This record gives sequence, structure tokens and C-alpha cells, in this order.
Amino acid sequence: RGCSKLKLPEHVREYLDRKGIWELFPPQREAVEKGLFDDENLLIAAPTASGKTLLAEMRALHELIESHGETRVVYVVPFRALAREKYEELTNVIEFCREKGLEPTIEISTGDVRRPIRELRPGITVTTAEKLDASLRSRPSLVEEVDLLVLDEVHIVGDRNRGATYEALIALVRTFREKVSLLALSATVGNAEELADWLDATPVISDWRPVKLEHRIVEVPSASEKDAKVRKLIRKCLREGGQALVFLYSRRRAMTEAKNLSRTVSGLLSEDEKKELRTLAERVSELGEGEETEILAYAVMRGVAFHHAGLTAEQRALVEDAFREGLLKVVVSTPTLAAGVNLPARYVIIKDFGMRLGNEIKPTKNEFKQMAGRAGRPGYDDMGLVFVLTTSNWKELAEEYVHSEADPVQSRIWVSGPQLRRFLLGLVAAGFCRQIADVMRVALNTFMSSVNIRPEDAVLSSLKMLVDWGFLEELEGELTATKVGHAVSQSYLTPDSAKFLLRCMEEVGTEENVVLPSITLCPDFQPAPISSKSRELSTLDAFMGGSPSIEADEVLELAVEEFGYDDWELERRLAWAEALSDWVSGSPDRSILRKYDLYPGDLYRAKDDAAWIAWGMSRLARAAGITWRSPLLSRRLEYGVPKEALELTEVEGVGRTLAMRLYRAGYHSVRDLAEATVPELTRVRGIGEQLARKILESARRLTGT
Ligand code: ADP
Repeated sequence: RGCSKLKLPEHVREYLDRKGIWELFPPQREAVEKGLFDDENLLIAAPTASGKTLLAEMRALHELIESHGETRVVYVVPFRALAREKYEELTNVIEFCREKGLEPTIEISTGDVRRPIRELRPGITVTTAEKLDASLRSRPSLVEEVDLLVLDEVHIVGDRNRGATYEALIALVRTFREKVSLLALSATVGNAEELADWLDATPVISDWRPVKLEHRIVEVPSASEKDAKVRKLIRKCLREGGQALVFLYSRRRAMTEAKNLSRTVSGLLSEDEKKELRTLAERVSELGEGEETEILAYAVMRGVAFHHAGLTAEQRALVEDAFREGLLKVVVSTPTLAAGVNLPARYVIIKDFGMRLGNEIKPTKNEFKQMAGRAGRPGYDDMGLVFVLTTSNWKELAEEYVHSEADPVQSRIWVSGPQLRRFLLGLVAAGFCRQIADVMRVALNTFMSSVNIRPEDAVLSSLKMLVDWGFLEELEGELTATKVGHAVSQSYLTPDSAKFLLRCMEEVGTEENVVLPSITLCPDFQPAPISSKSRELSTLDAFMGGSPSIEADEVLELAVEEFGYDDWELERRLAWAEALSDWVSGSPDRSILRKYDLYPGDLYRAKDDAAWIAWGMSRLARAAGITWRSPLLSRRLEYGVPKEALELTEVEGVGRTLAMRLYRAGYHSVRDLAEATVPELTRVRGIGEQLARKILESARRLTGT
């Protein structure tokens, strides 16, 4: 028995027994030998499915048991999508402790930065880097509550979009909580030792995989032959009892591919599977609307799904679970899936190597490794097969990728200006740093500094900008945040966006038709793909002329001045302003999705982001003494209803669709609902007896009748 040779604490052994784990994987053994249970800081760099999460479970369990349930473990993930999976795994740890009579708890706290984490309770908190970072601004003392910090997917520090915040957070916690113990988990990267050095951690570096990988580079001369090849591979894979992941570069292509492959797959399904899939397809339809959802349901019924950021969170979870259970046979995805979720499959087919959106853009090496690394289901497959379909031009590069080492992680912090400025402002505003020297001390704890790039210049020039923008004041090296600076910091907007938003409010106004385009034109709003089918847009002028509800001219000029957007960028940001204007007017999801050619997931994420920015703006306005003329806009963005119907969403069971229907049916307040009867309510479309009762009960509770 592999576990017995190692010195494992008794409770850990028992925990593993219960999980049916009899032997540790090689990287796990190495981690134990290097001090997993002796408070060592460790960095584990190893492929997916090599058992890193289990290491975190064991470490957390050990520290919790040793501390009689008092340790506070913070498990940080870089993406929200990962949190749920980790939360579920770690729940086992907490349950185990509770059986031993201890009382730690587990919490998951992701998303909305408007509701910060208030305290870290004994037990485990699963959170995102952003959420923890934002929370530290209103509750700086949280940092002293972190006992064990688990950094999942720490290689994301090198990610262009999210890296800077993750890196800054790590530097902050390590500066102000010296006693913290650290477990960092990383994919295999080119410079794991450097990362470990930075974190003062002992490195455990391994390329061991539970299932061997085999790569096959397949040259296909034409698109139609490529399609035929994929179909053939899928048939072979399914006949062998396996599942397949197909990677493509655009969402639209992923959707079309899923639809096409569903014809191939449906012929290979059993009657039982078909029945289960029909139920699954119905649930997919319930969780979203629009053309994309219809196509997803169509494909799911036939054993295939597409998966990308445009799906709603619930749809994604459904697809992921059904694939893990083996019910879905094929998932077609953009590379986002490879970066995020743990979904192995026997075959991985990289269909468009060397192509991206029709242009010849190669994937990055790490993107490639992430995709390929999904091949092989531990415990089910003896071998994971990776098929790289490519043309003769790209064949050599494909070979090179297969045989090369992973890229090194590079720090992004000094090149991500807005994030850096948000970080620095936060340090001062939350009271972590008073002197420029204190700020430098934190800066020296970033990864960038640890690899010998001096942060001084970047820090000083960023601080100067914050002073120039009126967010900080400096007197002989002593820094203080201004009133507005505090508001910026607490809103978690980047100072760059905040500066622009303040200008919009001061120079143009704070009415809704100004605020909406201000929101979508600030860089903190990240516009997903959008188009406007309703009007033929050819030029920006035509666009502007066609949007009476949007007061965009002046805001637009400011945006160009601040950020130098080109016409294309302006168009899509303004299209979002319009889509959100429809959203807060209560127009049905289906018609918004169709009008702007949107995926539901993108719409919901955009309205959430907009709700956050609107909330931030109202705080900025208050701090700057500007009259805020869009009261309730943030909540309306959240719920997607006009002012009149907002009150109705307070009632349990009433979402935007029902709120609009009830409003149109003459129910204009919670009181109106409280005074209704069940038969009256069931006359409204979509309300059955059960729901009617729930609505009445809730409305009566709210009005105290
Ligand atoms: P990673 O976090 O590296 O992706 P996980 O910890 O999620 O890997 O492990 C992948 C799968 O392998 C999980 O289902 C886990 O329960 C299982 N596993 C981990 N360690 C072992 C082990 N020593 N023996 C058997 N199964 C294991």
C-alpha cells in the first residue's frame, strides 16, 4: 500500500480511505516528503488531474484537525467558474471534521464586489482573487484572518487580463500577513522554480500524468476533408466507449460544429441515453432563451453540446455535469473551457490548429498544452489521444508545440496600468500603506520584482497619476486618499475608468441616457461580441442618429479623448448601451437576444457588470458632490425592469419576466399583490397555483398583512 510507506497523519489516512484512495500519485508523495504536513510553503507544478486538489484537501484537513477546527483556510481561484467545483470537493473535508466533533464551516464567496466578505470564519472560504481583493478594501483586517492561503491555478498570474490582480493580491497578503502558510498549485510552466522562489515555497515540479498522452498530428488539405476526419474520429471514439472534446476558435463555429456533429452522434446512442438526453435538453431550454439556447438543446438531445463563455452559468454547469457523467458524448468548445474546468475526455481534437477566426493566428503554447492536457480520463481511459488537425504550413509548428516545454509565466503587473493603479490606490485608501516607502515594500513582494525588474519607476509614475487625477494627496512622502479616492477604491472601479466616469458626470450629466453609454464606454465594462440586426449599421454616424434614448455624443467624445477607441470599438460599446437600455425598459430577453445577436450568458454578465459600475458611479457622484439623477438604476440593471416594476421583484419567485407580466396585468406594487387572490394571480401567464401561493405569501409577509 503506497500510502503506508509515507508518514501520513492518522486522520489524513482515514480521509483517504473513505475516498477509496489507496496510493498517492508520485507528485503527491513528493509533496508529502517535502513537508505538506509540516507547515512548509509548497508550490506544486504538475499537470491537470495529477491530484493537486487532493493535496489541498489533505493540507486543509490536517491544519483544521490540528487547530481543533479553528484554522481559516482561504482557497483562491482565478475564475468564478472554478469555485463551485472546488467548493464541492472541499465540502468533504469539512464534513469529515464535523464528524470528528469539530465545527468549521465552508463558504463560497464569488461574484458581486458590492457585497464584500465580512469575515473569514474558521473553516474554508472559497473565493476568487478579485472578490478577496475587493473585500480587503472595505475590511483590511481580513488579511490578518488568513491562516492557510491556497492559490489555485497560480500560473494565471501570467494571464493578460486577470494576472495583475492575482499577483497584486498575493503580494498584499504576503506583506501584511507574515504568518500565513501557503500552498500554491500550478499547471506545468516553464519557470516553476522562479514562481516558487517568489513565494518562498519549496517547489514540487512534475510532469507525471495519471493517463499517458499520445499526440497525432493529422494533415488535412481541405475544410471538407477536415469535417469528414472529425466525424470519423468521433465515431471511432464513441464505439470504443470514449468521449471527445473538440476545440475550435470561435463561438459561432463551436455552435455550428456541435449542430453538425449531433447528426453523427445521435446514431450511436442507446434508447435509454436518448431518453435521458431529452430530459436534459428540456432543462437546457428552461435555463436560457434565444436561438443559441435552441441550438444547444437540439444538440444536447443528440448527445453533443457546445461550451463557451456565452452560455449562462447554469447551462454550463449542466453541460459539465452531464459530460462528467458520460451522458453527453461530445463537447465542442473554445479554449476557455481548457483554461477553466476539469473535464477530461478520451479524445481531444484540436480542429483548427493554426487558424483563428479565419486568420492564421497560432494558439499560444500554453493554450495548446491546456487543450491537449484534457485528454484521458483517469480511472477510465488507458491513454488520452490528442489529434491536431492542421495544414502543411502549420505542421512543423504543431510538432514543435507537442515536444516543447511549457512557456514561462510572466508578470503582468507593471504592464497592466489600470490594475496596477487600482492596486496602489487600494493600498493607500484601505490604510495598508501611508508612506511611499510602504508602497514600495509591497511592490517588492510582487513576482516581477522577485525576478529582478525594479518596480520603483512604475510605482512612482502611477502614484503621480493618482495624485494628478485627484484620488491621492502626497505631502513629503506621506500619502492619503482623497474623499473621491476612497470612493474609487471602495467601488473597485479602476482609477482609469473612475476618472472617465467622473468627467462624464461632471461635464455631461447623470441622467440615465448619459449614464448608460458612460458605463459601456469605460474600460471596466468588457463588451462581449454584439451586433445590431435591427438597423443596418454601416457608419457610426448612422448609428448615433438611430439611438434617441442614448445621449452619446459628448460621452463619446470624452471616451475617444481618454481611451482612443476606434469606430469599431465605439460601435460595439454603444450597441451595448442600447441593449442595456432595452434591458432596463423590461423588454423580453428573447427579443434583446435576437435584436443584438447575443448569447444569454453574455447579456447576463454584461448587465451584472453594468449594475456594478452604475453602483460605483453613484458612490463617486456622492463623494464628488454631483447630483445623481439615476436613482435605482443599479438595481434596475440587476433585475432588468423599469422603475415602476422594480418593487415587484422584491417578492419571492418574481423575476423580471413575471414582474413585467404582473405589471401589465395591473399589479403595480407589492401591496397590490398582497391583496390579490390565488385564482386572480393564476390568470397571469406563467403563474400556476403553487407559484401564486408563494407570491401571495411573500407579498403579505413584505407588507405585514
Ligand atoms: P488536479 O487538481 O491536479 O487537476 P485532482 O486533485 O482534481 O487533480 O485529481 C484528479 C482526480 O484524481 C480526482 O478525481 C481525484 O479524486 C483523483 N485522485 C487524486 N489523487 C488520487 C490518488 N492518489 N489515487 C486515486 N485517485 C486520485
